[in-house]
Amino acid sequence: MLNDSPDRQTKQMLITFQEYNHLPVTGELDNKTVKLMNTPRCGMQDKPTPHGMPLAFSGGIITHAWYPPDGRLHFDDAEAWDVGGNGANLFPICAHAIGHILGLGHSNVPGSMMYPWDPATGNPAATLSPDDLAGIQSSFGPEVPTTTQLL
Ligand SMILES: [Zn+2]
Repeated sequence: MLNDSPDRQTKQMLITFQEYNHLPVTGELDNKTVKLMNTPRCGMQDKPTPHGMPLAFSGGIITHAWYPPDGRLHFDDAEAWDVGGNGANLFPICAHAIGHILGLGHSNVPGSMMYPWDPATGNPAATLSPDDLAGIQSSFGPEVPTTTQLL
């Protein structure tokens, strides 16, 4: 929108951000919006890129994941990884990254595995939400029973 003023463009970007992230839509930089913007976020781009990501770990980035067909996954060995302690929580971060290498993008559903905001603490048990299941089943098909029921 070439004729839009910077204030109007900023307001529209805030509205888009708030709608996408299920925040109250005010178009203002209010407390809930600022809080979410300051929450650690997965650095993976929301759309697959043909060249993956840079290899250096910097700016709070602690994993690199590549969408299919590449599928590489790197963890920063300088990070203090642990499970449920004070370090980087391995299970939810790993599960989120594996979602990316399986082809899942980010979800805007809070609490889902693929929600990009603070995957280490937002879903510490690394459980799959209905949104995660729908995402993976849209790529790989519905769950197939592993046992056969005899009539
Ligand atoms: Zn991510």
